[in-house]
Amino acid sequence: MIVFENVTKEFPNGTVALLEVSFHIEPGEFVFIIGPSGAGKTTLLRLLLRELKPTSGTVQVDKRDLSEIKKRELPILRRQIGAVFQDYKLIDDRTVAENVALVSEIIKQNEEEIDEHVKEILSQVGLEDKADLFPSQLSGGELQRTTIARALAAHPKIIFADEPTGNLDAATSWEIINLLLMINKADTTVIVATHNQDIMQSLDKRVIELEKGRVVRDTKKPRQKKPKAETEKEKTKPAKQKDEKKKK
Ligand code: ADP
Repeated sequence: MIVFENVTKEFPNGTVALLEVSFHIEPGEFVFIIGPSGAGKTTLLRLLLRELKPTSGTVQVDKRDLSEIKKRELPILRRQIGAVFQDYKLIDDRTVAENVALVSEIIKQNEEEIDEHVKEILSQVGLEDKADLFPSQLSGGELQRTTIARALAAHPKIIFADEPTGNLDAATSWEIINLLLMINKADTTVIVATHNQDIMQSLDKRVIELEKGRVVRDTKKPRQKKPKAETEKEKTKPAKQKDEKKKK
């Protein structure tokens, strides 16, 4: 569903944010992207949203090469990817319900449908009682739930949460991660960029680790231990060579 193939992103000032990054993410996966600040996590998201284009390599979503997507098709791509930001990016003078409804307005539902849809999503994220409050009246966890609700409003195939727990205490962070896990169970692909080691280590999920723009770890099969895989590879290698010799 998501393919990064040898993606390098160099900014005009010469900063190389990503270097030869390759990975595939299948539909329905839950993946952590970890790495210290500056490792390239946000750049990945911006490439996925086609806010940026790679300097080299390809980014594909659903087999579409994003560098070939036309400007008028961008809203369609962006509706497939619900982005959740650490700093929420909510509209301050709109209520919780209105923030979420904006997306439904964009996808041209009528008023009644929008009301129904917003109610349903707010109850999904546990905010049914907060619909009429403004962002300034919400706690950090509620603000993050609102951004998740807004991301869900367009029924995206993918949720990409960029440091969703960055501003939250431990208990609230877990509430948000549990909500993302629940969304994943309902078949949405969820990608969480984080430097929250505690949460990542407590869950047996795939981890793609970035360091200075390079992938330094990818635990594609969660339960597979890396050393074992390497030994198996070594075991099969000589046998293969023997076979090849036989053929000759
Ligand atoms: P992370 O999200 O892991 O903290 P980023 O993707 O934001 O990392 O940044 C990766 C690197 O790219 C950093 O060195 C950052 O300073 C740099 N960078 C990000 N955006 C730009 C930009 N628009 N221009 C120049 N350098 C940038």
